[in-house]
Amino acid sequence: MTTPQWRPPAERHALSPAPASLRPGEVWRNWGRSERARPEFTARPRSVDDAIAAVNFARDHGLTVKAWGAGHSFTSIAATEGLHLDVGALAGVIAVDGSLVTLGAGTNLYELPALLEPLGLALANMGDIDRQTIAGAISTGTHGTGARFGGIATQVRGVTLVTAAGELLRVNATENPHLLSAAALSLGALGVLVDVTLECVPSFLLHAVERPEPAAAVLDEWLQRSAETDHFEFYVWPHTTTALTKSNTRLPGDAPRHPLTKFSRWLDDEFMANGVFRASCAAGAKAPAIIPPVNRLAVKLSGNREFTDVSSSVFVTDRTVRFREMEYALPIEAVPDAVHATQKLIVDRGWRVSFPIEVRSAAADSLLLSTASGRATGYVAVHRYWREDPAEYFREVEAVMMAHDGRPHWGKLHNRHAESLETVYPGFNEFLAVRDRLDPGRVFANDYLRQVLGQ
Ligand SMILES: Cc1cc2nc3c(=O)[nH]c(=O)nc-3n(C[C@H](O)[C@H](O)[C@H](O)COP(=O)(O)OP(=O)(O)OC[C@H]3O[C@@H](n4cnc5c(N)ncnc54)[C@H](O)[C@@H]3O)c2cc1C
Repeated sequence: MTTPQWRPPAERHALSPAPASLRPGEVWRNWGRSERARPEFTARPRSVDDAIAAVNFARDHGLTVKAWGAGHSFTSIAATEGLHLDVGALAGVIAVDGSLVTLGAGTNLYELPALLEPLGLALANMGDIDRQTIAGAISTGTHGTGARFGGIATQVRGVTLVTAAGELLRVNATENPHLLSAAALSLGALGVLVDVTLECVPSFLLHAVERPEPAAAVLDEWLQRSAETDHFEFYVWPHTTTALTKSNTRLPGDAPRHPLTKFSRWLDDEFMANGVFRASCAAGAKAPAIIPPVNRLAVKLSGNREFTDVSSSVFVTDRTVRFREMEYALPIEAVPDAVHATQKLIVDRGWRVSFPIEVRSAAADSLLLSTASGRATGYVAVHRYWREDPAEYFREVEAVMMAHDGRPHWGKLHNRHAESLETVYPGFNEFLAVRDRLDPGRVFANDYLRQVLGQ
């Protein structure tokens, strides 16, 4: 049986020609299974010209456009009912100029070690997974930890965008430099990124020390330990008094490596962190009473190891247990109070929570919509297994975070609107002005952007 060949509806869309890669849209779902969308069309441009043709086609026919990355945002930030643009074919290294590396926007972070290693380079800091695309990661302010280090968008020195007018806009130190603080972290609201230039650093190793420690003491020492350690983070397990700490110290690239053995990595990162954890989360969703004892057992069995390896393999872990997440950026000194209040909420409400509270830090930066814009930042993240309803837990924790002047991660669940976000971002209105100039007809809008940026 032959499948009838689909053709773009030329008679209905008579203005710009349909781009060659235009297809009927398919149902899109994000990793956390919290969002789905059915765009009218999907296009997978193979060149910058194809991407321009797709934007022109959409604009001329009254369709909105969203580029998508790897679907790892928990919010509907990448969803559209118009034209979904998959820039996955625009990937790889485009140019190298010393430590400045220009990458196709659809390059996945997991491709970077193999691309950067031959150049003797690495990303200065990374988050805890590498499935995202570089465009998706910078567009939502993806970050790792380290009080002296910014998120990935702070490493951006240039971008090229296809604007709503179908023009190529280069933003870097010499071309439109005044737009960099908006374009490096833009929620996908300013146009389609086709390339991104990152300032990389000489490749380096990380010496990792992971320990279970009393949570109260770790919270007391938070400011000091985040200042003293290159990359400090911890996970407080609900229903226990324990925090699992991770302290990573940077070493030169030629220092001796002491990587985990394959077996030890499999045991901790695959068997315990994914296999056993998945089984206990699934059981806990059906019988919440088992969650506290399981959490107490989990902290006894994991998190006590020391090793030295190349930076990307220490920063990044494999997360195969699906969950939903909310993360708030706070003034760094507010973290202990906010975590204590969250722990108290869990006890007072009698909730049974199988996922830890995750705490990280970042240096202040000057990007208009960065969660660390203008202030040294601590991040507090809460999670729920994907088969549990996170609404009540997240809503009440969100109230705690708002009391501490919190800013929600753009790619993680929250309930904030433009009116309240304007009060916590000094650069909010400046970003809106750039958006008005670059996308006056809101070609790149969707429901999420209307919620967080307004019309
Ligand atoms: C398991 C897991 C772990 C995570 N860990 C971390 C972490 O450690 N730190 C952290 O900060 N976040 C973390 N996140 C959140 C994640 O990094 C962000 O949500 C990120 O944006 C996802 O990237 P993506 O490529 O999947 O982009 P998507 O979610 O597909 O898209 C995100 C945004 O980028 C836009 N976009 C994508 N490509 C383009 C383009 N070419 N041009 C213009 N706009 C574009 C989209 O339109 C959308 O607005 C995690 C998420 C998951 C599911």
